[in-house]
Amino acid sequence: MDALRQMRNLEARPGLQELAPGFFFMDTLDRGVKGYVGGWVVQGRRSYVLVETGAGAAVPRWLSALADAGIPLERIEWILLTHVHLDHAGGAAALLQHLPNARIGVHPDGIRHLLNPERLMAGAKQAWGDDFERLGPMLPAPAERVVPLADGELIEVGNFRRLRVLHTPGHTPHHAVFFEETTRGVFSGDALGAIFGGAEPFGEFVTIPGISPPIGDPQQYLASIRRIAELSPRRIYAAHFGLWEPALPYIHLAAGQISLLWEMCREVKKSGGTLGDAQERMATMIARTRLSTCGQAELEKNTTGVVLAVWNHVTSRELIFPPSLGRTAELPANGRRRGG
Ligand SMILES: [Zn+2]
Repeated sequence: MDALRQMRNLEARPGLQELAPGFFFMDTLDRGVKGYVGGWVVQGRRSYVLVETGAGAAVPRWLSALADAGIPLERIEWILLTHVHLDHAGGAAALLQHLPNARIGVHPDGIRHLLNPERLMAGAKQAWGDDFERLGPMLPAPAERVVPLADGELIEVGNFRRLRVLHTPGHTPHHAVFFEETTRGVFSGDALGAIFGGAEPFGEFVTIPGISPPIGDPQQYLASIRRIAELSPRRIYAAHFGLWEPALPYIHLAAGQISLLWEMCREVKKSGGTLGDAQERMATMIARTRLSTCGQAELEKNTTGVVLAVWNHVTSRELIFPPSLGRTAELPANGRRRGG
């Protein structure tokens, strides 16, 4: 299998970059952090689709980047959202005000958060603490311009590219990814976690699984990773962060990280340890990593929650994560193995 690589070093580049013909990417500089959250523009023949806007604070950045790239605002037909979290969708409604012909497409269960973001904002305020203000405001979206996206639905981009909607719960119940058929690329949102390079002792790369409590569900998350793998994608258009190719090593990594966590939790449980022991073990491992980007801080911040999410599922009798998923280059052919 070809080695996983990120297409171009994206750090510290302002504005839109065309990472592949017709696929533009912009660092939204989430909370001022470089290289962590980005959004995409897909070019059709005469129209464009945005995938993720980033937080509200990114809207002025979008407007100048689109102008600099010569993309007319009236040609943008969609803002597609993988899920309604502030770092992906916080700027969607505010940006929509500048796009006269665009609609927002989202999983049906994400719509209520878009129309009434107050609860989401309150949750984010708790999660982000002092950093919350830097995300910028999330405006409510007008109901008449929000479209529910069904599983399997096709979105045409200028009679040229087609994006297939795939419901992928796990990170949130309302998560979806978009499969671009002409390039066999997946806009993965948080379905494959956030990926970082330079990740000893984990290996060359590490992903932070997108399964923080209370809504992250590792079992669904893994099932969704399997759905993505079954598309046999070639590329990952990641929100966290950039363009990755080939896709399968990335997917195996994301699934393998869950397997690793699950096995670690099971081991600790078997030997009579507590959740705290498991979290400490993970923290020790993470303390040994020295990620070159903002990844180290994100890895440390997310550890407690991610271990908790997996820990709670280790007791579930119906759940066995396929151990081979993390260890070998191949996904198990027969679907999820079950046992008690
Ligand atoms: Zn995210």
